[in-house]
Parts: sequence; structure tokens; C-alpha cells
Amino acid sequence: FDPSTKQDAKLLKVATDPTFIPFEIQTARGKLEGFDIDLMNAIAQVALFRVDFENLPFDGMISALQAKRVDAAISGITITAERLKTIAFSRPYFKAGLAIAVRQDNQNIKDFNSLQGKKIAVQIGSTGADFAKTIPNAKISTFNSGPEFFQDLLNGNVDAVVSDAFATLYAIKNGKLKGIKVVADLLTEEYYGIATPKDSPHLDTINKALAALLSNGTYKQIYQKWFNA
Ligand code: GLN
Repeated sequence: FDPSTKQDAKLLKVATDPTFIPFEIQTARGKLEGFDIDLMNAIAQVALFRVDFENLPFDGMISALQAKRVDAAISGITITAERLKTIAFSRPYFKAGLAIAVRQDNQNIKDFNSLQGKKIAVQIGSTGADFAKTIPNAKISTFNSGPEFFQDLLNGNVDAVVSDAFATLYAIKNGKLKGIKVVADLLTEEYYGIATPKDSPHLDTINKALAALLSNGTYKQIYQKWFNA
């Protein structure tokens, strides 16, 4: 048995939600791309396993891991104490945080305090949704993905969106989110991890591969490809 031959290498089913750009993107032809996709493929290369990506809505990912329907999930998933009760995470691989986004012409929302009593759109099951619950008197609408909650903001149905800063800033910078600005950056300090079921036999392998990619420059290359273009 030679684990380096494609045929014999172990196949890991990895869930991802390709609406979280630029971490996971699905091209018009159905191909998966993005920071997380490159990172997971690089991990597989070092750890000598193959990856079979499976598209799942973000909100269904934790239950899929709990039920062991997938071996792992990579989708800009923040490591939280709450999630650690039911699933496991790799070492952190990305420092992230939440941001407030508003329409370009909005002058009155500037920070956490100015969100009180406002209408806010968030993604179901996200850390942004948890954060929004702590805002006094906020009226919260929940959506399945980034494109949907930003559309709701542009339509004028909500006053603000609370979501991951990097994804929002990336979309604005690349002209994909016209008419929207970020007013408060990194409201929280969060770290993304690769999620697995508890007691996963693959977690140790994934952590060792991540460490290797961080020290051999591959991680840096992938980071530059997506964020320093
Ligand atoms: N980082 C956020 C969370 O874990 C959102 C991630 C995402 O939308 N893919 O809740």
C-alpha cells in the first residue's frame, strides 16, 4: 500500500458553502475556488489524502459534522466555545472578525452603539447572527448567504449588515458590492478553523499539515494570491 498513489489515498469528504467569497467561490462552470479551497487542497497534498468537496449551506454544516455525514468542513468557520461543545476544530488558520456594513449614503450608523433599535440583516447560524442578538432592540432578519443579505441592505429593507469583515471588504474592493461601505471593522476577534466531528481520526493529520504549510511558505503564497492581489 502506497498512500502517495492517487488510487490508494484516503478520500475525505469536506463540506463547504461556496457563497463566502473569496474563501469559497463556485465559478459559472461549477468549479470550486478560493482561499479555503486552495488551503484544503494543499493540506491534502501534504497529508496524502484526496478531497471530495461537498456543497452544503453554512447553517447545515455543524449538524452534518455531528452526524459524521462529512469528514471535515472548511468555510470560514469561526472557532467558538459554543461550537466546540459539539464538534472539533483544527488549530486556527485565519484571524478574522465582524464588520458593520451600511449603504453608502448612511450617515448615522458608525459603531456598535448606533445599531440600537435598527434593522439588521445577518446570515443564519453565523457569528454575525449571534452578535446581532446582543444589540438592544435590534430587528434582525436572517438569510442563507452573503449575496442575499447584501441585496436586502441595497433594497433598503434593513439599515445594516453584520458579517465577516474580510469577505465584505473583499467584495467592496473588487466592485462586487456597489453602494455599500464598511463603517466598523473587526468588531470582534475571531479565528477560523477547519471543523471535524469530535474525536476525528483526521484532526491530527490536518493540524500537522497546516503546521507544515505555515512553515514552508505555502500558506503565505495562498494568502497573497487571494488578499494581496
Ligand atoms: N465566520 C462566520 C461564522 O463562523 C461566518 C462564516 C461563513 O459565512 N461562511 O459564523
